[in-house]
Amino acid sequence: MSASSSKLSFIVCGGGMIGLSMALGLRQQGHQVQLVERGQQPQLSAEFSLRVSAIAHSSRALLQQLGVWQQLPSDRLGPYSGMSVWEHDSFARIDFNAAEVSRSDLGAIVENQLLEHYLWQAAQAAGVMIHSGVTSVAEQLSDDQVSITLSNQQQLSADFLIAADGANSHVRQRAQLPLTFWHYQQHAIVATVQTELAHHGIARQAFTPNGPIAWLPLADPQHISLVWSIDDPHSEELLALSEQQFVQRLQSFSNNSLGQLTLRSERQAFALKMHYCQRWLQQRLLAIGDAAHSIHPLAGQGANLGFADVSQLLAVFAQPQQQLQRRLREWERERKTAAMTMIAAMEGFKRGFAGANPVLKLLRGSGLQFASSCAPLKQQLMKIALGD
Ligand SMILES: Cc1cc2nc3c(=O)[nH]c(=O)nc-3n(C[C@H](O)[C@H](O)[C@H](O)COP(=O)(O)OP(=O)(O)OC[C@H]3O[C@@H](n4cnc5c(N)ncnc54)[C@H](O)[C@@H]3O)c2cc1C
Repeated sequence: MSASSSKLSFIVCGGGMIGLSMALGLRQQGHQVQLVERGQQPQLSAEFSLRVSAIAHSSRALLQQLGVWQQLPSDRLGPYSGMSVWEHDSFARIDFNAAEVSRSDLGAIVENQLLEHYLWQAAQAAGVMIHSGVTSVAEQLSDDQVSITLSNQQQLSADFLIAADGANSHVRQRAQLPLTFWHYQQHAIVATVQTELAHHGIARQAFTPNGPIAWLPLADPQHISLVWSIDDPHSEELLALSEQQFVQRLQSFSNNSLGQLTLRSERQAFALKMHYCQRWLQQRLLAIGDAAHSIHPLAGQGANLGFADVSQLLAVFAQPQQQLQRRLREWERERKTAAMTMIAAMEGFKRGFAGANPVLKLLRGSGLQFASSCAPLKQQLMKIALGD
C-alpha cells in the first residue's frame, strides 16, 4: 500500500458495539465511512435488557474519547467498586476493591443495547452513512480497493472493508480467513434478577463444578444481571426448571449474599464457543471484535478485547499513511497476541475450576488464599480486570 491522500474511505460491516465504535472513530478522524447493519437502531426500553457487558476502564476511555460515554444515562450504568470470587462448597475466596488500586470503581455494567443505541445516534450525527436492514452478500477484494454487494443489490466501494459482523461473520467466512475454534460445551443462561439485599456495587462470581455463575450489579441497587455458564447436559435441565426451582437452585450457590432472589425476566441461553481468526488482515479486509475472536464470558472480556482492537486501529489510521501496510501488520500481530493471551487465561480459569475433585479443590483454595494475601499478584489480577 502506498502513501496517498490523507483521508480514506471505509465500509464497516456490522453495527454492534464494536463496528459502531470503529465507524464513529474513523469518521471523527475525517475519513468517509459507510456502515452496513442487518438490523435497525436498537431502541431504549424501560426494562433492563438481558445482554450486558462489564466495561473495563480502557474501553470506557475509548467511549469517552468518542463522546458517547458522557451521553449514557447514569440511571442505567452499574459501576462496580468491588469483586468477590469464590468457589462453591470450599474455603477458596478472593475479594477485590477499587480502593486497593486507588480507583473509584473497577468498571461498569452496561446494557449492550443501550450502548449501541447511543453509538448509532452519535455515528449518524457525525456523518457515518448507515445502511440498515440490509446485509453484505458478496465482497470483492483487491490490493487497493474493496467493493461489496448488498442484499438490495446496491454496490458500495471503499479503500478498506472492516468485518465487525460478530462471531458468525459471513464476511470472514467468504474471505476464507482461517479460523481456530472449539466449543466450550457450555451455554450461558442470562436473566435479570431482583435481590432482597442491595448488591452494593459488588460483582460476584461463584465457581461451581459445572461452570461459573456471575451476579453483575445493575444501576438499580437491587437488580443484577445473571450470567450462569453451565455444562451442556445441565443447561437444558436448568432451562426446563420452573421459575421457582430455577431461583432456588441459583440461591443455593449465592452464599446468601443477596438474600431472596426473584426472577424479573425470561431466561435466554447462548452457546459458548472460542474462536480466533489466524489472519485479521487480508488485502484491504480487516477483522475486528467477535468477527476476529470470541472467548468465554467468565471474565467479561470479549467486548473489551474488541474495543481495544478499535482503539489501536484508530491509532493506525490517525497517522499519515506512509508504511500503512507495515503498521497494519503490527496492529494485527499485537491484537492477535492480546486475544490469544486472554483465550489462554480463560481456558486456565475454566479448566482450573472445573470438577469437584477434593485435592484440586484444596489447591484452588490455597491458590486463591495466596493470591489474596500477595499484594503484587492481587494487583496484577486487578489490572487485568481493569483492562490496564
Ligand atoms: C453471555 C455473555 C456475556 C458476556 N459478557 C461480557 C462482558 O461482561 N464483558 C465483555 O467485554 N464482553 C462480554 N461478552 C462478549 C460480548 O458480548 C461480545 O464480545 C460483543 O458483543 C461483540 O461485539 P461485536 O460488535 O463484535 O459483535 P455483535 O455484538 O455480535 O455485533 C455484530 C453485528 O453485526 C450484525 N451483522 C451480522 N451479520 C451481518 C451481515 N451479514 N451484514 C450486516 N450486519 C450483520 C449483527 O446484526 C450485529 O449487530 C459476553 C458474551 C456473552 C455471550
